[in-house]
Amino acid sequence: MKLADILDLENSRLANVYEKMPVAIVRGRGAHVWDSENREYLDFMGGYGVALIGHSHPELVRALSEQAEKIITCHGSLFNDARANFLHELFKILPSRMGRVFIGNSGAEAVECALKLAQKFTGKRKIIAMKGSFHGKTRGALSVTWGKKYREAFESVLAEVSFASYGDAVSVSKVVDSDVGAVIVEPVQGEAGVRIPPPDFLRELREICDTRGMLLIADEIQCGLGRTGSMWACDHFRISPDIMCIAKGIAGGLPMGVTAAREDIMVRFGKGEHTSTFGGNSLSCAAASATLRIITREQLPERAREIGDRLVSGLRRLAERHSTIREARGIGLMQALEFRFPIKELLGKLLDNGMLSLYSGLNTLRFLPPLVLTEGDVDLALSKMDTSISQQSKQ
Ligand SMILES: *Cc1c(COP(=O)(O)O)cnc(C)c1O
Repeated sequence: MKLADILDLENSRLANVYEKMPVAIVRGRGAHVWDSENREYLDFMGGYGVALIGHSHPELVRALSEQAEKIITCHGSLFNDARANFLHELFKILPSRMGRVFIGNSGAEAVECALKLAQKFTGKRKIIAMKGSFHGKTRGALSVTWGKKYREAFESVLAEVSFASYGDAVSVSKVVDSDVGAVIVEPVQGEAGVRIPPPDFLRELREICDTRGMLLIADEIQCGLGRTGSMWACDHFRISPDIMCIAKGIAGGLPMGVTAAREDIMVRFGKGEHTSTFGGNSLSCAAASATLRIITREQLPERAREIGDRLVSGLRRLAERHSTIREARGIGLMQALEFRFPIKELLGKLLDNGMLSLYSGLNTLRFLPPLVLTEGDVDLALSKMDTSISQQSKQ
């Protein structure tokens, strides 16, 4: 299909809810993707942080085609070898406190499950979330998401949530009352433009939850699975949550969301109280097993730390060279550049120069590249950024 036809069909027939870039991506390999005109791009968008192991990793492709030959779907009311294999791999890397998981199909679903579970376990319906948070856009997940532009039109159906200042444990204590059952937090905030909390914040949050009888829900959907340089972002802060949400890259790009919880919490769900038709399907599970094996064998968390260091020092150099940059910040391969002006045009410049990247709010570029990035890819990205920023400043 021609580019014009692809753009035309998507523009006229899809719900108009995505801020679109005018390219059609048709294939990918590692940290690189190609468009319908065979132009190559360095992918620092990574499918919004999904492509942890890169695009079309040969081992993932093999696992998918082998599973597709055997069986693609198997409902949760039947047992399945691909699902059991996935659990075997997953529990090798989950914090030891996690006893059971629910398998769904997306990040928002993993959050929905966590919220229902917290209510079932504590008998309380109120939740504390953080300013700047992003947890998804279904009604429950949207209730704990901060962004006004996402909530505004739906405020009347959202659940009761108190928002505290991210990074400030005192502000959390202030909104605790006897109706609050849980606190939900991103150990590193993504959508907010990559915000790393002060070193003691999560430990203080853990203490508040313990003393006030609340559950701590960690949303590791974006920052988990090695992205920040350790398997879980919580590991940096030496805490373990009661419930954990995982999604994005867990199945190598196939849809999957996982809610992990302490044994005593997850057993409180009764039969039928939370299920999903596609959840734990054989194809996604086979993909997830392969993905977790690759993450472990290729030591991608360590890799994210090493390559992340190279990226950070490059971004800092860019910030010194260009006065238009306000700040470079991040951890591992979760990085951001905040500018003094809106970056919409700069995103276009980057695209023209063969690089895909993300925005967070009006002024911030965010980078969630595949963890299989090479040193050469990082250097290439930095030089593309340098060129694009210079072109932008000259206008
Ligand atoms: C992407 C994301 C979600 C929502 O995931 P979806 O699969 O888009 O529903 C939730 N929390 C965080 C931190 C995310 O980055």
